[in-house]
Amino acid sequence: MAKVRLDKICKSYDREHLAVKDFTLEIEDKEFVVLVGPSGCGKSTTLRMIAGLEDISTGELYIGDRLVNRVEPKDRDIAMVFQSYALYPHMTVYDNMAFSLQLHKMPKNEIAQKVDEAARILGIEELLQRKPKQLSGGQRQRVAIGRAIVRHPKVFLMDEPLSNLDAKLRNKMRAELVVLRRKIDTTFVYVTHDQVEAMTLGDRIVVMNEGEIQQIGTPEQVFTRPQNLFVAEFIGSPKMNLFRNVRLELEDGNYHVAFEGKRLEVDPLDAKALYANKQQSCDIILGVRPEHLVICDETGGECFGTPVDVFEMLGSESYIHTKLGGSEIVIRAETTARSFEMQKQKGGQVCYRIMNDNMHIFDAETGENLLIERKQIPLNTQVESCG
Ligand code: ADP
Repeated sequence: MAKVRLDKICKSYDREHLAVKDFTLEIEDKEFVVLVGPSGCGKSTTLRMIAGLEDISTGELYIGDRLVNRVEPKDRDIAMVFQSYALYPHMTVYDNMAFSLQLHKMPKNEIAQKVDEAARILGIEELLQRKPKQLSGGQRQRVAIGRAIVRHPKVFLMDEPLSNLDAKLRNKMRAELVVLRRKIDTTFVYVTHDQVEAMTLGDRIVVMNEGEIQQIGTPEQVFTRPQNLFVAEFIGSPKMNLFRNVRLELEDGNYHVAFEGKRLEVDPLDAKALYANKQQSCDIILGVRPEHLVICDETGGECFGTPVDVFEMLGSESYIHTKLGGSEIVIRAETTARSFEMQKQKGGQVCYRIMNDNMHIFDAETGENLLIERKQIPLNTQVESCG
């Protein structure tokens, strides 16, 4: 059993600035957790603290039930795979994988059995006698993973393991990691700046920015209910469109979103969440993903019509760039003969509407998602209008 628990962990390299702030997370046994965020947000520092390669400034780290703040890396029962592979160039693949077991004075036949097993899992049985320089990038990465697998660690730590590979190989290795994970069934903590990698690999994702956790959730939760504007913009490609100068209106118990001269009804399920939060009328930022802007035949009613700035045809889908209410936006649409025809007929106008069951509503001041129920509102709290 290897739960990992981080309790209010902080890291400061210098006095002024915290690289990681109050990081609290409980990772379940055999869970695959991905730390994701832009460069410099504190992902690697967090991982390195779990590995014992960085001191923890304050807070507590538990692996299983053991407090490990002061435990040496080699005694933590973890294995780490780095971006740079860090293979020994003068050793064969076999010896690279066997090295840590030899250090632990494991009998030779047991070492051979473990290396063979890892090589089989990774499909590198034919490469065991080669040196690292005779391997491709993907093969080297497999050896680096193999070196970690042979030790049967309680926790597997991976720091951007795919970022040195070209795009095609990265996709392949990503799929292989999904399979590998099923085969070795241990606890994983994985760091990446790539949101697609995070979404495809993680049971849960921890989105970080400037040393702080922004949201912890399943891929579905962070995509469909981003906690705040940062997560909304970071997760999803192309980025979520954000409309400013929008008003959320509560009238006779119904919520509407008003902007650019139109009033759109808030979906009943979302309205329920707003109600639960005692949400009053206020200024909001409205988020809509590019795939939730739907092309219409003509303007009027709930449909907008604006000039097309760029029409990007990517094959089966197209990205249509336009502007609405001062915001640059992207519409993701299926590519059809009709979509091209429509383009010509409308003299470069695109007509579209917002799917109102896919609106994201953020407080204009705090950037927090108003559709996430805040469970801890004290009873009898009077919620003033935030507008
Ligand atoms: P990420 O992995 O998300 O790119 P890091 O954890 O490497 O981010 O870095 C987080 C912050 O800590 C950054 O501001 C970085 O400059 C700083 N930092 C990282 N390592 C050191 C170090 N050894 N000394 C001083 N500052 C560091």
